[in-house]
Amino acid sequence: MFERYGLEAETALRVVTLAAGLAREIQGEVRALPGEKDDLSPVTVADYTAQAVISQMLHEVFPDDSLVAEEGSAALAAPQGEDALAAVLAYVSRLLPNADEQAICAWIDRGAGEPGARYWVLDPVDGTKGFLRGEQYVVALALIEAGQVVLGAMGCPNLDHSLQPALGGAGSAVIAIRGQGAWAASMEGKLLERLRVSDEDEPSAARLLRSVESDHTDEEAMAQLISVLGIRPEPTRMDSQAKSAVLAAGGADLIFRLNSPRNPDRKENTWDQAPGLIIVEEAGGRVTDLRGAALDFSAGRQLSRNYGVLVSNARLRDAALRAIQAVGADIPPEAV
Ligand code: AMP
Ligand code: MG
Repeated sequence: MFERYGLEAETALRVVTLAAGLAREIQGEVRALPGEKDDLSPVTVADYTAQAVISQMLHEVFPDDSLVAEEGSAALAAPQGEDALAAVLAYVSRLLPNADEQAICAWIDRGAGEPGARYWVLDPVDGTKGFLRGEQYVVALALIEAGQVVLGAMGCPNLDHSLQPALGGAGSAVIAIRGQGAWAASMEGKLLERLRVSDEDEPSAARLLRSVESDHTDEEAMAQLISVLGIRPEPTRMDSQAKSAVLAAGGADLIFRLNSPRNPDRKENTWDQAPGLIIVEEAGGRVTDLRGAALDFSAGRQLSRNYGVLVSNARLRDAALRAIQAVGADIPPEAV
């Protein structure tokens, strides 16, 4: 399929589409677990199912690679997780018939790996809140080598083949390999077309994508950015790294990731940024932090040396960075 990273690309596309297929089935019968993670995003059977499946399938092909993934099995393995674990086992067994409850917890916990010379990062269900609302979410996977994202793959059950929102449709996928482009694919893993960002260079015409969740951003700074740039189109609210896939396909031009005043010191998770970053960059776009610095994936499980994220079609980058500076969105907001 691809000259370099061929086996990695084929495997990544296969595992994200299989996991996304399961997540889509589960979305039809959502089962939020009682209890919430530290960051208050609901943990679902789909997160655990996708992480278990992808962890084990990657391990079968690349046993020496480590995995840095969002979930751990503690809540599932606890007595109150019994029903959820049984549900996860039923779903995982469809793809991995030899699974049992112990194995599933062990597969999930491989995701506690430390970032090393070469490792995968996985957000099994990015946009859990969108998932629970029946809206956008993606299964997002990336490969990092020597601190550089070299491959990204996403399963996008609620985007169509042009990577535009289509709730309940056939879904799609994206695969990007450093130096070899970003490509749309079907949920069956068939490559469709090469992605290219928009060539919009007029800030007032910028199509902005923003989080659905108000708590994930700084509403006030966002309004100021829209005003300073003179953005006329109504911004579109969308959960997860589906935003990056839409932008890579030319369906949007700008994304600002700003910290909420409720959480001013929050650091981005690598799995929330690496897949989207390479998909956008390989489509000709640019991804930096809000100060214009490259995202530093050598700092651990979080991007602890960066602040926020600016995703653009490249042509609007300079104007966006100037606006960020003008409104002070390059420094964390005052805590409330
Ligand atoms: P989005 O749908 O773009 O708002 O981003 C979804 C991601 O936001 C999830 O994967 C979480 O890692 C992340 N997240 C969870 N809680 C917060 C929070 N309080 N502030 C910012 N991001 C968060
Ligand atoms: Mg996430």
